[in-house]
Amino acid sequence: MTIPLTSRAREIQARVRAFVDAELIPWEVHAEMHEGLVPEHVWTRMKEKAREAGLDNMDMPAAMGGRGYTMLEQAVAQEQTGRVTNALGWCANNPLRWMLEACSPEQIDRWIKPLMTGQRHECYAITEAGAGSDVDAIQATARREGEHYILNGEKWHVTSANLADYMFFQAKIEGGPNDGSHALFFVDHGTPGVEIVRTPAYTHNYRAHHPIYRFADVRVPASHRIGAEGDGMGFTYAWFRHERLMIAARCCGSAERLIEEATAFARSRIVFGQPLAEQQAVQFMLADSVTELFAARLMTYETARAIDAGADVKTAHAQCSMAKLYASEMAGRVADRAVQIFGGRGYMRENVAERFFRELRVDRIWEGASEIQRIIIANGLLKRGAESLVG
Ligand SMILES: Cc1cc2nc3c(=O)[nH]c(=O)nc-3n(C[C@H](O)[C@H](O)[C@H](O)COP(=O)(O)OP(=O)(O)OC[C@H]3O[C@@H](n4cnc5c(N)ncnc54)[C@H](O)[C@@H]3O)c2cc1C
Repeated sequence: MTIPLTSRAREIQARVRAFVDAELIPWEVHAEMHEGLVPEHVWTRMKEKAREAGLDNMDMPAAMGGRGYTMLEQAVAQEQTGRVTNALGWCANNPLRWMLEACSPEQIDRWIKPLMTGQRHECYAITEAGAGSDVDAIQATARREGEHYILNGEKWHVTSANLADYMFFQAKIEGGPNDGSHALFFVDHGTPGVEIVRTPAYTHNYRAHHPIYRFADVRVPASHRIGAEGDGMGFTYAWFRHERLMIAARCCGSAERLIEEATAFARSRIVFGQPLAEQQAVQFMLADSVTELFAARLMTYETARAIDAGADVKTAHAQCSMAKLYASEMAGRVADRAVQIFGGRGYMRENVAERFFRELRVDRIWEGASEIQRIIIANGLLKRGAESLVG
């Protein structure tokens, strides 16, 4: 590896890689064939080993009992979890630091600290049938009634809702001085009026489902509101930045695994009397893949390093979009080439390239689709110039 990393980052990288190789990768095919599930005792062991590998609470400060990793260290660790399919890398609890800034001490005790210990699990209900890319188009409402809010709306693609016991629910305030502004709320599963509409099937086979939820006159105490009325979008942006960068990191890990596996296959597969790897057309696919991975990894690490060094938040916002855009599109191209190199085997669900080919597709859609990342990058370029983004 030619990219400079601190010895602590290298140590995290080696530790997480060893965990992924020993504990997660051996269970991928089983998960694929069992709707994303592994036996419960295996899942428990994965969670324990993830903790031992230092993969949990990475963004939380050490003073709170978290790992206190830098952004670069988190990217390096997440990259390794990207090497496994079927979302088995999601076996560690990773609440985010913005939650500590946004939540009251009571909220931290009730909803955030139990995330750190794995006693509670969260999910995010923002997207709606008519509002995905354009978050401001949400129609969910929060109406104040005395010391309560009445929540209404329907939320789509609520990832992990089947494993969670509460939601972050985003709505627009209805009435009062902040009418039309966004706010975020904690909503516990089981609160009267929260009901599952249906659980659609998706392209991937993950333990975590993405149900549609209806909220009909859901009454929550005002103390469930996160921050002030009008703060909702600010929190969402903070978490988008973090998540987009981590998607970029995981896409780099996926691409690396694909390149390793496709290269090994090309060396061993004999076609027309010689290894496939000796065919220049195959070499070119591998060469393009590893070159693009190098570029994506540099971009991801450098964006993380700049955030650690206190980068301007607007520049960081655009650079996280650049990293997500480039790395997710790069990984999609690498997966496509890997399927081609594996030939018919690459179309079998037991093959890693087939699974990544399907699973990586969503990285160009969720947390802002590629077109939305381009809009953010173009805005940054037009307002602050190329120097601010690449200088
Ligand atoms: C598996 C999965 C899990 C998800 N998990 C969650 C979750 O946990 N919580 C949650 O709240 N949401 C979640 N989402 C929702 C996700 O964030 C949205 O799907 C995504 O933001 C895109 O929104 P949309 O699907 O409504 O597409 P739309 O906004 O309808 O866009 C459709 C297409 O048009 C393009 N487009 C939109 N505007 C423009 C423009 N101005 N110029 C050019 N092209 C444009 C988009 O890029 C996209 O390609 C999840 C989605 C999926 C698929």
